Amino acid sequence: MNQNNPNLLQLNLSGAGCWLTILATFLLVGTVGLGFVVKGILLLIGLLLILPVMGWLGLRWWLDRNLIKDQCPACGYSFTAVNQTQCQCPNCGETLKIEQGHFVRFNPPGTIDVEAVDVSVKQIED
Ligand SMILES: [Zn+2]
Repeated sequence: MNQNNPNLLQLNLSGAGCWLTILATFLLVGTVGLGFVVKGILLLIGLLLILPVMGWLGLRWWLDRNLIKDQCPACGYSFTAVNQTQCQCPNCGETLKIEQGHFVRFNPPGTIDVEAVDVSVKQIED
């Protein structure tokens, strides 16, 4: 026990010395004229704190502008998607694109979209 105690004390002292050295270094750096280094570190810490908040606000703003909630033109299922992208209806699997805030059926090039029209039947009498 008596042999261990001085070692423990030495360890504590060296630990305190280490912190004192860091503190002294910071003070020295501050007084010598390298204050901009400390300011830079503080600025970096500030940026690290502010950037996630800014990023979150930016994301919220972007989502407000780009999230589109509309109904699927094929089945009428209402869901949300990101603007200027292609998406698939989660209900019927129809490939959709978003134009002017509304879902439009996505047609691959060369496809002609045909709308069914009711044709009234006329009897032709000879
Ligand atoms: Zn659908």
